[in-house]
Amino acid sequence: MNPITYVAANDIGGVFDRGQEQAYIAGGTNLLDLMKEHVMRPQTLVDINGLELSDIVASADGGLLLGATARNADTAYHRLVQDGYPVLTAAILAGASPQIRNMASNGGNLLQRTRCHYFYDTAVACNKRQPGSGCSAIGGLTRQHAILGASPQCIATHPSDMCVALAALGAVVHVQSAAGQRQIAFADLHRLPGDHPEQDTTLAPGELITHIALPPAAQFAAHSAYLKFRERASYAFALVSVAAMLDIGDDGVVRQARLAVGGVAHKPWRVAAAEAALVGHRPDTAVFAQAAALLLAGAVGQGENDFKITMAARAVVRALQQALQGTHDNMHERDPKELT
Ligand code: SF4
Repeated sequence: MNPITYVAANDIGGVFDRGQEQAYIAGGTNLLDLMKEHVMRPQTLVDINGLELSDIVASADGGLLLGATARNADTAYHRLVQDGYPVLTAAILAGASPQIRNMASNGGNLLQRTRCHYFYDTAVACNKRQPGSGCSAIGGLTRQHAILGASPQCIATHPSDMCVALAALGAVVHVQSAAGQRQIAFADLHRLPGDHPEQDTTLAPGELITHIALPPAAQFAAHSAYLKFRERASYAFALVSVAAMLDIGDDGVVRQARLAVGGVAHKPWRVAAAEAALVGHRPDTAVFAQAAALLLAGAVGQGENDFKITMAARAVVRALQQALQGTHDNMHERDPKELT
């Protein structure tokens, strides 16, 4: 048994005092699994639910601020999210189960760790869990693994659906530490594995996510889609997922486009050239296929997951077709709590 110190924090100024062996906990939906499997062994758990970071409020620039400890379900069903950011609602509701979404926090969703089987099995080598030990996935079971941005040290994927939508939306992550506050562009939060797969993000030790800022996105609200392919209809991580958003002018020409793909890399995959290829065109399947090719350029399978290359290309085209048709009604789903 590992002794753990539990601290319920109610003052953000006091949470940074305990060194690097602490872990923050809000919903704990991934962290507690990792602790039970002995993958993570923090000496101190700092409960941040008392820090008043659960608000979801409009920001002065016309965007939205999502509190780090707001629950995923409360975020997905918030009227300002559903109406202004339907792709985010759809992405969150595509993940996990209702029970987990009721518990999981927004900050925790961003910081959840890969679901690579070998990462959770302490009997086998894994560079992410134990740097320098090797990667059991390479040459092993790779159906869920990366086709983009992988390294010889790690081929894991990031498991979040929410993060794919946040990447497409161009969110900004607000963090705080003893050194002060700073903001991180969403594209810079998650790392590619490179030579240090043990580092999932660019957060410094002890830094706490406080908010996620969404820029105004009303221009995309009418043409957004989140498409997810997985092994079963619910409660499964993405083999491939796509967040697609189009801003289409009255003349039928694309003014702006956003595309991000999940399930294919160590972070949501977004390529500026793919989005630029859509701008200025009347959208059709050929234009969408060109964007998909640019987005997935350089994709390499591991054998078992070679199918993802074709699947991802088709998923991008289909997600763009769905966005073109108009934001689907089910992306405006109402909170089940309103129905009881
Ligand atoms: Fe570990 Fe990454 Fe290899 Fe999985 S893919 S075994 S997480 S090093």
